[in-house]
Amino acid sequence: MSSQLETPPGMVNSTWREDGSRRWMYPRLSKGYWLTARRTVAYVLIAVFTLLPYLKIQGRPAVLLNIPAREFTILGFTFLPTDTLLLALLLVSLILGVFLVTALFGRVWCGWMCPQTVYMEFLYRPLERLFDGPPGLRHSPGKRRSSRRTVAKYAVYLLASAFLAHTFLAYFVGVDNLARWMQQSPLQHPAPFLVMLATTALMMFDFSYFREQTCIVACPYGRFQSVMLDRDSLIVSYDRRRGEPRGKGKHRERQGQTLGDCVDCGLCVDTCPTGIDIRNGLQLECIACTQCIDACDHVMDRIGKPRGLIRFSSQARIDGQPSQLLRLRVIVYPAIMVVLLTAFVAVLANQQDAHVTLLRGPGLPFNELAGGEISNQLRVKIRNRSGRDAQYTIALVGETPARLMMENNPMTIGDRETQIQSLLIAVPRSVFRQGRYDVTLRISDGQSFDQQFSHRLLGPQGRENADG
Ligand code: SF4
Ligand code: SF4
Repeated sequence: MSSQLETPPGMVNSTWREDGSRRWMYPRLSKGYWLTARRTVAYVLIAVFTLLPYLKIQGRPAVLLNIPAREFTILGFTFLPTDTLLLALLLVSLILGVFLVTALFGRVWCGWMCPQTVYMEFLYRPLERLFDGPPGLRHSPGKRRSSRRTVAKYAVYLLASAFLAHTFLAYFVGVDNLARWMQQSPLQHPAPFLVMLATTALMMFDFSYFREQTCIVACPYGRFQSVMLDRDSLIVSYDRRRGEPRGKGKHRERQGQTLGDCVDCGLCVDTCPTGIDIRNGLQLECIACTQCIDACDHVMDRIGKPRGLIRFSSQARIDGQPSQLLRLRVIVYPAIMVVLLTAFVAVLANQQDAHVTLLRGPGLPFNELAGGEISNQLRVKIRNRSGRDAQYTIALVGETPARLMMENNPMTIGDRETQIQSLLIAVPRSVFRQGRYDVTLRISDGQSFDQQFSHRLLGPQGRENADG
C-alpha cells in the first residue's frame, strides 16, 4: 500500500475542480441580524413578484408586457412601439440607477433583490434543508438524505417551479387570460402552454442543478463588477489587519507572535453559497449575501471579541484610509439621470390623447375613377389613449378640390383601443405637379385631441398629366 497521500485535485474556481467535477454547495445557514433583514426583504419581494400581475391601476394592469401587441404597461402607463424615446429614456435611467447603487453599495442587488438569490436562498434552499436536513461542515450535504426524501424534494421543487412559471407567464399574458387558459385544454392555447412548460423546465434546471453557477458564470451583471466598483464602494470585506495572523485555539500567542482575531474556524466559508473564502479579498463570486458576516459575528460573540471582523465596509476603510462618499461617478450618474428623467417627464407630459398613424393603402399607388378623378387609398390607425371612449372626425383642411370618402367617419374608439380604417381621397387629375399633390388632414375628437397631418397624394406625372 502506498504511504503517499493522494493530492486533492486543484480548483478552477470555488465550485469546479480541475478534473471537471463539480463541487456541490450545501451552505450552512448562519442566523443573525443580516439574515433576518435579508429574509424580511426576500419575503416582501416574493409577495410583490407574485401579486404584481394581479394589481390594477385605474382599471389597467400595473404591469403587463404584451409582446404580440407590442405594448408594455408599466405602473398603469402603456408604452407603444412608437414610444421608443420614452422607453429608451426610462431604460437608460434604470441602468444608470443600477450603476449608482453598485458604486455606493456594491452588489446589494445580487444578495438582496435578484430573483435568482431570493428564490434560491429563501424558497429552494429552505426546502432542501427541510428534506435533507441541515448541511454539515465543509459543504457536506444534510444527513437525512434518502432516495424517498430526494424524490419528494424534487416533486416539491417541480410544484414550486410550475407555480413560478405561471406567475412569470402572467406578466406577459395577464392574470385573466391565464386563469381562463388554466381551465381549458392546453390544445386550445398551445403556444402559452409550451412557454409555461419551457419556463418550468428552466426553473427546475436553474434552482435544482445550475444554482450558484448563474451568478458565477452566466450573469453579465456579476462580470461587470470590477468596472462598477471602486475602493470606496461598500462591500462585504474581511478586516485583514484585525484578523491576521489567523490561528486556531484559545491561546492567541504563538511563536512569540500575537494572533489576530480570526480563529480560522472556516464557518465563513462553510456558509458561503458560492463557496469562496472572503478572507482572500473581494472576489467576483461574492454576491454580498452577508451570510459570512452573521457566521463570523457569532464566532466573535463566542470568543468575546467585538463583532465586525467581516463587515460591510469599503476597501479604503478596511485598509485604514479615509473613505470618500462623493466621487466623480457618484456625482456623474445621478446628474445624467436627472437630465434623462426630466426629459422623460417632459415627453410624457406632452403626449397627445391619441396616437395616429397614416399609411398608404395596399396595391397601386393611385387609381383613376370613372369621372376622371385620381384617387389615393389611405389607412388611418388611431390609438385612443385619452382615458375615455372618443369619436374621431377626419376632415380635409383648407381650400382644396380634394374629396374625402370614408365609411364610419367619425370613428368611435373605446379607451385604450386601436382601430384601423381605410379612406379614399379623390382629386382632379389636373392638380398633380410631377405626380404629386399635398393635402392636409385634420383629426379631432372635439375635446382634447386636434391634430393636422400632411399627406402627399400620388398621381400621373409628365405628359400623361398635361394631356389630361
Ligand atoms: S463571501 Fe460572504 S457575502 Fe460573499 S457570497 Fe460568500 S457568504 Fe455571501
Ligand atoms: S468565521 Fe470569522 S473567525 Fe471563523 S474563519 Fe471566518 S473570519 Fe475567521
